[in-house]
Amino acid sequence: MELQKNQAWLDDWLADLKANKDYLSQLDQKIGDGDHGNNMARGAKAVEDKLAEKPAENTSDLFMQVAQLLMSKIGGASGPLYGSAFLAMATAVKNSDDLTAIFAAGLDKIKQRGKAETGEKTMVDMWQAAIDALEADDISIDRLDQARDEIIAMKASKGRASYYGDRSVGEMDPGAESSYYLFKNVFKQV
Ligand code: ADP
Ligand code: MG
Ligand code: MG
Repeated sequence: MELQKNQAWLDDWLADLKANKDYLSQLDQKIGDGDHGNNMARGAKAVEDKLAEKPAENTSDLFMQVAQLLMSKIGGASGPLYGSAFLAMATAVKNSDDLTAIFAAGLDKIKQRGKAETGEKTMVDMWQAAIDALEADDISIDRLDQARDEIIAMKASKGRASYYGDRSVGEMDPGAESSYYLFKNVFKQV
């Protein structure tokens, strides 16, 4: 897989995480503990600093660095979830050029680690929607916007948001929102 393209969407994702730090934490304030934006922005900065110091040599190396830094710098649920996804993707890119298969390997790990399925109002739902769009070769931001609307309408049954029960209905899941930024930038590159 082309390093340049992957580096481009990754850079844009990290920039979006930093730019939307307050918004992501506001979402998490409503159905969580209010730290998701701070968590992700801290992780994003750590990845940027590391890559500025030592640029990745290939996509696998890039994903591996992202995995290690997100896992070590982000507290909470999302660090290990994104970390294990990028770790699986670092291995998957060695065996495949197929972006769909690569993200599917990442999603499998998120589901495994989070003991999560689709329909539980987590980042899993955004990853699944994006992978479905890639698979169907219908790579439009509209698909992601539609997924966002569907996630807002869901009742959370995993993670902190599940403690809010019915009050989670009508709110956007913060981790699904940070994953929306990821795939929005991927879709711009494919
Ligand atoms: P914490 O909840 O520990 O404060 P964050 O706020 O950084 O961690 O991340 C919360 C996000 O992580 C949620 O919005 C959701 O998308 C995701 N999440 C939490 N628990 C799970 C889980 N078990 N499976 C999948 N995703 C999860
Ligand atoms: Mg939180
Ligand atoms: Mg927390």
